[in-house]
Amino acid sequence: MTTNSMTKNIEYQSRWSEALQGNYGQPAISLVRGEGSHVWDADGNKYLDFLAGIATNILGHANNEIASAISEQSRTLNHVSNFYMHDGVVRLAERLNALTGALTGSGQARTFFCNSGAEANEAALKLSRLTGRTRIVATNGAFHGRTMGALSLTGQPSKREPFKPLLKGISHVPFGDAKAMRKAVTKKTAMVIVEPILGEHGVVMPPDGYLQTLRAICDESGALLAIDAVQTGMGRTGTWFGFEHEGITPDIITLAKGLGGGLPLGAMIALGKNATLFQAGHHGTTFGGNPIACAASHAVLDILERDDLLNRAIILGERIKSNLQSLPGVVEVRGRGLLLGIVLRDEIAVELNSALLSHGLLANSPNSNVIRLAPALNISDDDVAEFSQIFRSTLEQVMLK
Ligand SMILES: *Cc1c(COP(=O)(O)O)cnc(C)c1O
Repeated sequence: MTTNSMTKNIEYQSRWSEALQGNYGQPAISLVRGEGSHVWDADGNKYLDFLAGIATNILGHANNEIASAISEQSRTLNHVSNFYMHDGVVRLAERLNALTGALTGSGQARTFFCNSGAEANEAALKLSRLTGRTRIVATNGAFHGRTMGALSLTGQPSKREPFKPLLKGISHVPFGDAKAMRKAVTKKTAMVIVEPILGEHGVVMPPDGYLQTLRAICDESGALLAIDAVQTGMGRTGTWFGFEHEGITPDIITLAKGLGGGLPLGAMIALGKNATLFQAGHHGTTFGGNPIACAASHAVLDILERDDLLNRAIILGERIKSNLQSLPGVVEVRGRGLLLGIVLRDEIAVELNSALLSHGLLANSPNSNVIRLAPALNISDDDVAEFSQIFRSTLEQVMLK
């Protein structure tokens, strides 16, 4: 890397901070292109991408099949609005509904498409109002998005404080604490919303049986159980939505991130009798279910199914855990499938993450002692070996300092 002359990355830093609003921290590098699980920056440096656009590029960068699907769709029909139907949106809803498993027996499922995770949770929030109840219980530390409704669900004070007052009637209880949930949920509760694993909060796992207990609590009180699978969904944790290992059926599932394979696409799937709560005029969005985003999502589902990538996520997750968990300075590697949090003994995650960047590895530090990994599900064995090697040597260096 050039050190004393102005590099292109540094030039972009000053232009970026002049031209864009200050709501994000200043990024260090500007990316130019990607291929599989590698990206290149404006100075020509190559990186192994173990964050994948925050769990979004579920099949890596510049995937040929996704690119062909997008390209073909963009030459055929690229936007119609929801005044008209098109094959891609109908088939995508059918596929997602089927993946929930709710269609077996007399079950039903219906999908609403939007463009992001926050919008998917906004839709869930509005759907829950149609039960006639208004109260909601969410969990501390949870991330459900940044728009005012979704922010009201988000359980992170630093993100909420500057924007109060938020929506009324929403309470937060400790994540993983079923007793606290039981106390908070009443006959007035419209919805309980949880992430199967807290992603943004540092890949925090609930105790086994937590979702089953929440299901029972919601059944007793008549509240809807919404699973925010925006980060855990699309096979990342080894099942389609990240809750199936508990054997429950939620009332609502929200999706985004990996759903469009890098294109903006979100979904709110309502199951059972709630599937038909939305009536004409209740909700909408211009871009939701856009033909190009749907075409990308079909390609994503095709590849995930064809290449058995849900199983591969489990195998590679276990491999990464066993490669790292006995390293000096690592307390544990938690998470499921390819959503992993490396818990460090010392509060060095921020420093380690920037050292990883300068050694050619993209990851992230959601808090001071956790490094989060959310690579593409089609990473190769070589990518995993390269990752383990970079991580090990960088951690050693940072700990010696
Ligand atoms: C990222 C995320 C969201 C918000 O998604 P956006 O597309 O950024 O609005 C919501 N819930 C969870 C669990 C997330 O990880």
